[in-house]
Amino acid sequence: MPCCDAIKIVGDSDLKKMVHTRKASCAVHKVIQNGTAKVSGVQTSTWTSRKRKAPSDQGSATSAEKEGEAMTVVGKQKKKTSTKVEIPLKKEMTEVKNEVAYVNGTSTATGNKFNGSPCSTGLRYLGAHISAAGGLENAITNAVSIGARSFALFLSSQRTWNRKPLEEETVEKFITAYKGAGYPPHLILPHGSYLLNLGSPDEATLSKSRDLLIDELKRCERLGITQYNVHPGSSCGKISREECMAKIAESINFAHRETKFVSVLLENMSKQGHTIGGDFAELKTIIDQIEDKTRIGVCLDTCHAFAAGYDLRTEEDWKKMIQVFDEAVGLSYLKAMHINDSKGDLGCHLDRHENIGKGKLKKQGFLPLMKMPHFADIPLVLETPCEGDDVYEREIKLLYSLEK
Ligand SMILES: [Zn+2]
Ligand SMILES: [Zn+2]
Repeated sequence: MPCCDAIKIVGDSDLKKMVHTRKASCAVHKVIQNGTAKVSGVQTSTWTSRKRKAPSDQGSATSAEKEGEAMTVVGKQKKKTSTKVEIPLKKEMTEVKNEVAYVNGTSTATGNKFNGSPCSTGLRYLGAHISAAGGLENAITNAVSIGARSFALFLSSQRTWNRKPLEEETVEKFITAYKGAGYPPHLILPHGSYLLNLGSPDEATLSKSRDLLIDELKRCERLGITQYNVHPGSSCGKISREECMAKIAESINFAHRETKFVSVLLENMSKQGHTIGGDFAELKTIIDQIEDKTRIGVCLDTCHAFAAGYDLRTEEDWKKMIQVFDEAVGLSYLKAMHINDSKGDLGCHLDRHENIGKGKLKKQGFLPLMKMPHFADIPLVLETPCEGDDVYEREIKLLYSLEK
């Protein structure tokens, strides 16, 4: 059942743009609202994004894999002028109920038979890593302004252990903003701090990482966010990989016990240095040791997979990768993706993101992503180099153009 008459498709049908006029009477939105606490009143106006200040580089990231591992550069975001809002569409009441159950931690939920999403609209939700400079709620304005239907962000500075507490006012503004823009919680995917090493051989770093993870997960829960993505960790060459994976699993179990419902999504890595998780089987080894398997999943990064040796240049390659992933991990754990082209060749073990179509995957490498059913209903988040104002917006449009 569509959301009363509140969702209308306008213009630019190839992008399935929608304008959403929220109505207090809309049953679907009442259900969504009841899913998390402290959602402010329903608005009745059509939501349009406002001009925003150019964010600083808080939302961009230079990832230094903890303790001297490889580097990643996630795009810089710059100013973008206002555009009409494009929002994710929720089609079915049952899907919304699934999501509420998921948020409340009462369901292992899989509403989707092809992956671990709680929903099954069959639509693709492309987005990007968004700057939250100047206030978390700005991330939503920024996401809407580039036509993102899902987004990632850092919940606090990713380069410092000591962070300011999350103010209640910020929580309320953020929830109001994402509900207002129509983003369901499972399409918002905070990225873990780059300081985290949940499998660190160093006791002090391990302890600080565990505290930081708990703090981050508690922030997610206050914000009504259901998933949080981390790089699994690194042995730093000082302990065995098995020992490192056991520490990672214990870190997550520990954090699960301290929190209520948020899931941790392990990101596959490019096999750089001593990082864990380049091989899908390693992700499964960690998952096997997680006590609450309803709160664990995988965020699959296309650049990392390719660099780790999983070819993604043709449809056959993607089918094979999906089969290998399903056998090694299980598709029900696939809950998000990072969409990046790769500067490096297949199996290069380098974590070097490239703009869509400009790297070794080429544009046609992303065709299966936009056609296979396995990638619907989960966040598909760009982390490509973003030097210009509108890189993400153009890449989102480019990818949607491949759907046809
Ligand atoms: Zn990534
Ligand atoms: Zn990367």
